[in-house]
Amino acid sequence: MRASTYPLVDADEAAALVLDHARVLGVERVTLEECAGRVLAEDLIASSALPAFPSSAVDGYAVRSSDAGHTLQVIGESAAGRPFAGPVAPGTAARVLTGGVVPEGADCVVMVEDVQVDGLVVTVPSPLRAGTNYHKVGDDVRAGERVLSAGTQLGAAEIGIAAAIGQAMLTVGRRPRVALMSTGDELVEVGKRPGPGQIPDSNRWALLAALREAGAEVTLLGIAPDEPGALRKLVVDALEKADVLVTSGGVSVGTHDLVKPLLESLGTVHVGRVKLKPGKPFTFATLPHGKLAFGLPGFPVSSLVTFEVFVRPALRKLQGFSKLQRPTLPVRLGYDARATADRTEYQRVTLKREGPELVAETTGSQSSSRLLSLAGAHALVRIAPGDLGVKAGTVVEAIILAQP
Ligand code: AMP
Ligand code: MG
Repeated sequence: MRASTYPLVDADEAAALVLDHARVLGVERVTLEECAGRVLAEDLIASSALPAFPSSAVDGYAVRSSDAGHTLQVIGESAAGRPFAGPVAPGTAARVLTGGVVPEGADCVVMVEDVQVDGLVVTVPSPLRAGTNYHKVGDDVRAGERVLSAGTQLGAAEIGIAAAIGQAMLTVGRRPRVALMSTGDELVEVGKRPGPGQIPDSNRWALLAALREAGAEVTLLGIAPDEPGALRKLVVDALEKADVLVTSGGVSVGTHDLVKPLLESLGTVHVGRVKLKPGKPFTFATLPHGKLAFGLPGFPVSSLVTFEVFVRPALRKLQGFSKLQRPTLPVRLGYDARATADRTEYQRVTLKREGPELVAETTGSQSSSRLLSLAGAHALVRIAPGDLGVKAGTVVEAIILAQP
């Protein structure tokens, strides 16, 4: 055992430093089918207006509002995709269906419920207001309008807009290729019966889920033993293809903690310890060719909290997201939060609505091995270092992880 020689870096400084080293990886063209969850890498400009023609919002009759109260001759039909050729002259009406083109001359559509039909004539009510019951050219999107900005995440509505303006393919940020490795001689494959002193490799699956949610393409390297040669070979091979290396375990100061020296030998370790609880041994290094390496602590909660604080924003930056951080909301603390003297603490809380406010309750023991403190948590609250802590009733900004 030896004392760590790495300086304790302020948690916010470490997070900023990580982001400083994360550069957008590049872009690719993908079909709309492959766009969900990706980040748009170009501004999307509509080349023409939507709707492109005056489009009926209802089933009814296209008429001139000046013909209000009259009995009009029905001269044809304009169905969706099958427009009526002629104009609507005074004294006439065209039957029009939802999505059909409102013919020239007509300035309103009267709903079928509001007219009296008698053979080939239709009597419309009075008064009629010009402009009712149809969508005018450009009502939804103007020609030349920017409908989506680079950096936006593509969800259902965004993909629908892209399709509506006729874009079959989009330029999106490339997904980071991440190699994920667990380290430790005590680890066994999940599902195998652990021998004496052994535990299942749970971090692999927790981090895989977190990485995928953050947009990464993950290669699983499995379990590396606490043996420098084997560890090095696994990492060096993986880095041929990966943009990012994420490891868990092996970063504290015990003699079996081999990740830091390995990263030192491969690149530059920028952060070797942070003033963060949980997650003090968090390690960040840059490697040749702009690759990033994150040595996450082995304790399950520490690995996921440091993932949240450092890795997720970096992965989003690599993809070109404009929003790197989770949303935050003001919440009232429902418990007395004790502070840690020298480290910012990210406490896990549930949120519940009380009147107009959200109230945060602790998820119980905040031990870095107790994943139940994170399972079901709605948010993280940051408690600044010191001996004061934060009293119940104080309003703090919570980092929202899940819908309460
Ligand atoms: P380390 O950072 O390697 O000193 O590990 C700290 C603690 O986390 C130890 O109790 C380890 O057994 C545990 N741990 C390390 N890796 C994993 C893993 N992949 N899954 C679950 N627990 C782990
Ligand atoms: Mg270990």
